[in-house]
Amino acid sequence: MAGPSQIADRIVEDIRTRAEALGFDAFGIARADARPDLPEKLAHALAEGWHADMEWMAETEERRGSPQKLWDGARSVILLGVNYGPQTDPMALLAEKKLGIISAYARNRDYHDIIKGRLKELAGLLARRAGADVKVFVDTAPLMEKPLAEAAGLGWQGKHSVLVSRDFGSWLFLGAILTSAELPVDAPHAESCGSCTKCLDICPTNAFPAPFRLDARKCLAYYSVEHKGQIPREFRRPMANRIYGCDDCLAVCPWNKFASVSREARLRSRPEFERPALADLVKLDDAGFRALFAGSPVKRIGVARLLRNVLIGIGNSDDLSLVPAVLERLDDPDPVVRGAAVWALRRLDPDRAEAMRLDRLSSEGDSSVRDEWAGVV
Ligand code: SF4
Repeated sequence: MAGPSQIADRIVEDIRTRAEALGFDAFGIARADARPDLPEKLAHALAEGWHADMEWMAETEERRGSPQKLWDGARSVILLGVNYGPQTDPMALLAEKKLGIISAYARNRDYHDIIKGRLKELAGLLARRAGADVKVFVDTAPLMEKPLAEAAGLGWQGKHSVLVSRDFGSWLFLGAILTSAELPVDAPHAESCGSCTKCLDICPTNAFPAPFRLDARKCLAYYSVEHKGQIPREFRRPMANRIYGCDDCLAVCPWNKFASVSREARLRSRPEFERPALADLVKLDDAGFRALFAGSPVKRIGVARLLRNVLIGIGNSDDLSLVPAVLERLDDPDPVVRGAAVWALRRLDPDRAEAMRLDRLSSEGDSSVRDEWAGVV
C-alpha cells in the first residue's frame, strides 16, 4: 500500500500533467513559508518609495510579505508560468518613430483572462485529489509571485527584478495556487545572472538604483501604464514611442535566446497591435478605443492615458504631418490629453506653439495645462 509521501507524489504528478495539458509551460512547488526574507525586503523597498504612488502596495504590505499572512491555512504554493515569448524583437520598433510600441505582454488578450480559468480548474483537481483547501492568484492579490517562483525552481529574479527562466528567458506570466496541502517541494533556482548587467545598462531612465531593485518612480512601464497624471517632463524624451509599457530590460536578457515563441496563440501579437501607427491612434475616441482594445490589457488605462502616451510619441516622432492631429487634441476635454498635446506641438512646431501661447493661456482653465503652455513643466 502506498504511504502518504507516495500518495502526495502521485497527486503532484497528476497536477503537473494536467497543468501541461492546460497550456502551462512551467510548474513548481514551494513551501508557503519558503521566503522568510520577503517582509524585510518589501519594507525596505516601501521605505525607499520605490512603489511610486502605487499606495495599494504599502496598504497590503503585511499580507504581501508572506503567503501565510494572506491566508493562514496556506502550507504549499504551486507556481505556474505561461510563456509569452514574442515573435519579433520588441525593441526593433524604437527606430520606427511613426509607430507606437505596445509591450509584448499586452499585444493580444489579457493574460489574467487566459490563465485564471485554467488555474481554477487545476486548483479544483488538487482540492478533489488531496482533500485540501485551495486559493487561486493571478497578479491581482498581494502575493509576491516572482520570489515564490524562484523558491519553486521556475527561475530566478534577475537584476531587472523580473523572473528569468532558463527555458523561457524573461517572458513568463506567473500564476499561483495556495493550498492547505503539504506537497513535496521543488529545489529553489539559483540566481544565474553572473556578471551580466545588460538589463541595467539598457534602461533609458536609470530606473535600477541597484541590481535586483526597481524604482517605479523612474520606470517608463510605470509611467505609461499606472501613472494617471501628466508624464513628468524628464521622462518624455526617453519615453520615445513607447505607448504602453517598456520591454527594454526584458528584451536584452541573454537568456531569451533559449525562449521559443509562445505556444498560446492568444498571447501572440495581434497584427494591429504589432505596428500601430501613431497617426491612427491619435484619432481614437472612447468608443473606438474600447472596440480596438476589447479584451486587451491596454483597455484598463482608458482612452485619455493612451492618448497622452500617443501624443508623447508624436512629440518624439519628428513627423510634421501629425501637427493637424495634435492641434485637434489641444481642445480635448481631458486636461492630461491637452497637456500632452501642448508638449507635442512645442516639439514639432515651436513657432506655432509660441504664436498660440498667450491666447491659450488666457482661455485654459486647468492649471497643469497652463503650465505646459507657459513652459514651466
Ligand atoms: Fe540577469 Fe543579464 Fe538577464 Fe539582467 S539581462 S536579468 S543581469 S541575465
